[in-house]
Amino acid sequence: MDAITLPRPAWMSEDLVLLEEQARRFIADEFAPHIDRWHEDGMYDRDVWTKAGAAGLLCATMPEEYGGAGGTFAHEAVINREYALAGFDAFGAPLHSGIVAPYILNYGTEEQKKRWLPKLATGELIGAIAMSEPGTGSDLQGVRTKAERSGNGYVLNGSKTFITNGQHANLIIVVAKTDPKAGAKGTSLMVVETDDAPGFRRGRKLKKLGLDSADTSELFFEDVKLPAENLLGSEEGQGFYQLMKDLPQERLIVAVHAVAMMERALALTIDYVKQRQAFGKKIIEFQNTQFELAECKTDATIAKVFLDYCIERHLARQLDTVTASMAKYRLTDTQAKVIDRCLQLFGGYGYMDEYPISRMYRDARVFRIYAGTNEIMKLLIARSL
Ligand SMILES: Cc1cc2nc3c(=O)[nH]c(=O)nc-3n(C[C@H](O)[C@H](O)[C@H](O)COP(=O)(O)OP(=O)(O)OC[C@H]3O[C@@H](n4cnc5c(N)ncnc54)[C@H](O)[C@@H]3O)c2cc1C
Repeated sequence: MDAITLPRPAWMSEDLVLLEEQARRFIADEFAPHIDRWHEDGMYDRDVWTKAGAAGLLCATMPEEYGGAGGTFAHEAVINREYALAGFDAFGAPLHSGIVAPYILNYGTEEQKKRWLPKLATGELIGAIAMSEPGTGSDLQGVRTKAERSGNGYVLNGSKTFITNGQHANLIIVVAKTDPKAGAKGTSLMVVETDDAPGFRRGRKLKKLGLDSADTSELFFEDVKLPAENLLGSEEGQGFYQLMKDLPQERLIVAVHAVAMMERALALTIDYVKQRQAFGKKIIEFQNTQFELAECKTDATIAKVFLDYCIERHLARQLDTVTASMAKYRLTDTQAKVIDRCLQLFGGYGYMDEYPISRMYRDARVFRIYAGTNEIMKLLIARSL
């Protein structure tokens, strides 16, 4: 599937090429045959997590001493691209491996890292990050979930919504106020191990416009008792700083996914228009089709060049918030346009759920909304003007 004909990026070393082949083969054998069933069921199977863990596809960037593969963000990017090229867009692994695990690695105490990371790497634990609430999403300072000191620990109360991996997750990082009067400085990240958390309740798996088999859910915390060791790190009030520092990687993960979906959309469409006929011609023979796809390929290629630049910066630990925000905003905007134009070339079949392009059109819509809306990205970029 090489619809974008760029040379291999400089960051893609030989071992990453091997990882790409291994991930592609594994996903094709183990996951791809079930994607339609999961889509129909509205949920993918729990054992996807342990299978991905056993194949070394979870927590690739975590150090080996904590059960990971000791890779870099490049490993994460390669694996995530393969999930998307195979059409497994609903899988929450990019968030689990690229967002939840790094919070623990970057801010957890030694004891917390040893306790949680190896189990995240095997898929025994499934991670989620619960920031958004019914009353607030973009404005995280408005979070109302509270973690109040009680004896040696905390009592957590609040509700969260739109949480990725919400039904499967058993290790949830919850954004909560430990000092509601202190604004951003009163926010902390609390880790809830749901297998032993009376008062924790999962709400509905939400019905959505797309990503049908993803278990995006509501979560409720009613007097959930947490030991002091479940505060991420050893100091209260660090939550906002921790969130802000790791957000560029979250945005880059979304951008990687967006570009991979464009690649897949282009490949599927080129294939289709070479077969379908109208007016005695193949659809590809119409100049309109050629121009549409020429423009889509150009847009996707430019997107990929910028993505590779951002990945290189990130690997050098030099990706700033403004550039990461540009990548998230612009590449997801381009993704939506490219997939829409591709769908048009499928005619009525493009509207049929059994055609992947139709699902991709629906799935892609959320990319401009989650991980910080594209409007919030523009706010962040505008601050640099
Ligand atoms: C499928 C899915 C998965 C998700 N997964 C997670 C998850 O795992 N964890 C999690 O915590 N959250 C998750 N979210 C929530 C997501 O991050 C939020 O929906 C998003 O941040 C927007 O917040 P909101 O929905 O409250 O919208 P609001 O903040 O209410 O925004 C409404 C509109 O106002 C605009 N707006 C808001 N503030 C400004 C401003 N200052 N200037 C200009 N425009 C503004 C927004 O851009 C948007 O267009 C998920 C959402 C979806 C749909």
